Amino acid sequence: MTGQAGAAVRATVHGDGVDAGLCEAIAARARSLGVMGWVCCDDDGVVRVHAEGDAAAIIEVIAPLEGDDREVEPARAKVEGHEQFAIRGVSAGVFVVQEHRATAHHFDLRLEVDGVMRSWAVPKGPSLDPALKRMAIEVEDHSLAHNDFEGSLGAGGVIVWDRGSYEQGGRVAWPEALERGHAVFVLHGEKLRGGFALQRTPRGGGGKPQWLLIKRRDDDARPGSDVVAEQPQSVLSGRTLDELLA
Ligand code: MN
Repeated sequence: MTGQAGAAVRATVHGDGVDAGLCEAIAARARSLGVMGWVCCDDDGVVRVHAEGDAAAIIEVIAPLEGDDREVEPARAKVEGHEQFAIRGVSAGVFVVQEHRATAHHFDLRLEVDGVMRSWAVPKGPSLDPALKRMAIEVEDHSLAHNDFEGSLGAGGVIVWDRGSYEQGGRVAWPEALERGHAVFVLHGEKLRGGFALQRTPRGGGGKPQWLLIKRRDDDARPGSDVVAEQPQSVLSGRTLDELLA
């Protein structure tokens, strides 16, 4: 691939000194060389790197990883069009899903982004079935302090249906990914796990922006499942919204 621009390499690194520090070092070198892609530092003693861009720069990122006690297995990969070099496997903040009975029953998905909870009202609730696209209406940001709120509210009420941490993914850095209308993320909740995408839908006229919330096809996908019906209890109190309001 020498001299060929627009190359991509996917490499696996294992052996001594394969840890979060190595991930940081790989990302710093890639960014200084203008290489795009990601490094994934799952806690399994293996680091995966996807590097794309100038072929000579990719070699400068990958080659130094080989050491006396460290092995690198590189393979040619497809160029995916990344616009950042991201570190995956690192929490970007918290997420919460609150089931909310108001005028209309819905689930509020909230993701921590730059100190606020970006929020979407999902009328049917989230799904682990990648075949289902769930409408998600963008609503106003909430404060992190609201994440633990559970109780009656107006004529209805709220339970904390799921919560945990999440990782930002995708080819474009956040929050720009949200501004562009396509954001990929990985949830580490009690009920919701794995990759999801929020895709803004084209919409004429005014009104609140509408998005689709879609489970990505990965090991955490559960085709045919209905997680909202199967696991209705609050992760805080164990109560359902019906029990809370009874
Ligand atoms: Mn709501």
